[in-house]
Amino acid sequence: MEHKTRVRYAPSPTGQLHIGNARSALFNYLYARHFGGDFIVRIEDTDVLRNVPGGEESQLSNLKWLGLDWDESPDKGGPYGPYRQLERLETYKEYAEKLLEMGYAYKEYRENSKKYAIRFKVPNDVELSFKDLVRGELKFHSKDVEDWIMVKDNGIPTYNFAVVIDDHLMKITHVLRGEEHITNTPKQILVYRALGWKVPEFGHMTIIVNEQKKKLSKRDKNVIQFIKEYQDMGYLPEAMFNFISLLGWSPQGNEEILTQEDIIEQFDPSRLSKAPAMFDKNKLAYINSRYIKKLSVEELSERCRPYLVKAGISIPTDDWLKLLVGILQDRMSYLGEIVELHRAFFHDDFEVKEEAFQFLVDNQSAKLLETFKHHLMVSDFSPEAIEPLIKQTGLDTQTKGKPLFMGLRIATTGDMHGPSLPISLALLGKDRVIHRLNQTITKLRGES
Ligand code: GLU
Repeated sequence: MEHKTRVRYAPSPTGQLHIGNARSALFNYLYARHFGGDFIVRIEDTDVLRNVPGGEESQLSNLKWLGLDWDESPDKGGPYGPYRQLERLETYKEYAEKLLEMGYAYKEYRENSKKYAIRFKVPNDVELSFKDLVRGELKFHSKDVEDWIMVKDNGIPTYNFAVVIDDHLMKITHVLRGEEHITNTPKQILVYRALGWKVPEFGHMTIIVNEQKKKLSKRDKNVIQFIKEYQDMGYLPEAMFNFISLLGWSPQGNEEILTQEDIIEQFDPSRLSKAPAMFDKNKLAYINSRYIKKLSVEELSERCRPYLVKAGISIPTDDWLKLLVGILQDRMSYLGEIVELHRAFFHDDFEVKEEAFQFLVDNQSAKLLETFKHHLMVSDFSPEAIEPLIKQTGLDTQTKGKPLFMGLRIATTGDMHGPSLPISLALLGKDRVIHRLNQTITKLRGES
């Protein structure tokens, strides 16, 4: 009988969700959802000293934020629980005793003590090869494996022992995990064999490297590596999901911007890569900007609002916010960037750049600017009200084309190019625009 596909993500609650762990979780999730199987989250907390308070909650909440869900876990329960290893000590004890009885393990007493650790007795001459889903046949031999500790003298099992008991009892069919576990696999296979259990399929995912091709290390300060940090900066979960899915996997077609549904549908374990996956920051920024562009202005405004509020930027009205977001949407690669872009746009040390100023000089724009200013002073300051004033100013001063449009833009924004002028001016507000026009006019008069 074919068994239902069951995979798991088994984090140790030693800290925040790291990009590498997120990838393990995500690929297991994709595997389960693609093949209509179950996805289980199990907490491997036997390395007691390394556990951190809140580690489990933050792992789970970060995974939820990324858009993953699961069928069984400590917070959800399920038929194969408990799902925290420290709550399963009785079970490990039972199997450790069995292995002792059968002669597959032995006690190692601490000096002058009744306490003992239990070591697995590795046979001398057996092949421990397995067919890795990612790498193909991997060959190991028992003569290269030492008698390893299964249970420590405090009664707590080690990872290599507990993982086998759990994967078997939880009916796990496929184990996708990081490359660093390849050398653990022969030890685990020994336990499966000793207990007469079926060995699951293993797949070891390639390492993630930085742009210098060095293995990504948590201490590498040049790469932001924790999911929560991306969340805080304003990366969209959909974009993160998409980006992470491309770390060591690739879709068949050229299109890399894919929804979660697309990825689930297209996921194919035979396309998991053997070569290291490069963590490409620019690609992440690009993917995120694509997702930002897809949002409606209303949605994006609401997502940006908290960043502006936190930066102490006052939002006069909802319409103002929508205008702002509308003109900056194409330039944002993460939501928090709105603050910086806003600053650049409203900079108080307003200054017209050299080349732009020369344009005003060459076109003798002083009169044009005066006229525009007078129209603006008595006008409403909505984009709709400002729009016709540009034309009117052109008519009044017999100016058109570039000298008109670029001239007004330079004098009010300092830049030769930019987003819609009426919208930009409406956002800047009357006082600021009039002030800038006065500054520019004074400077121009000084030149002539
Ligand atoms: N707790 C292990 C880790 O976080 C799990 C490895 C596995 O998936 O077997 O690396």
